[in-house]
Amino acid sequence: MTSPPLSIKARQQEGVLELEWSHGTYRLPFRFVRGRCPCASCVSETTGIRVVDVEDVPSEIAPTSMQFTGNYAIKIAWNDGHDTGLFTWENLELLGKEFEAAAN
Ligand SMILES: [Zn+2]
Repeated sequence: MTSPPLSIKARQQEGVLELEWSHGTYRLPFRFVRGRCPCASCVSETTGIRVVDVEDVPSEIAPTSMQFTGNYAIKIAWNDGHDTGLFTWENLELLGKEFEAAAN
């Protein structure tokens, strides 16, 4: 179980979601996060196949709001009108690791 981040900031000018944990900070591009949305309209519930990928996301994508859900996730609403994506802390940490692995 991943603990909540110490801070979550949407840095609009840089276009990154900054997630700070005591063990490290991840800076994830908005487009990458939006393209990894785990919701049922982005990933087929029956097949598990992703139907919306990073390539499908407009380059000017940005969050319009972030709302805490309990103490385990945030719900991100985007400027493309998509607002059903719930990102758990565990999910966000995995995204951070995936992004770092891709960058190295
Ligand atoms: Zn989605």
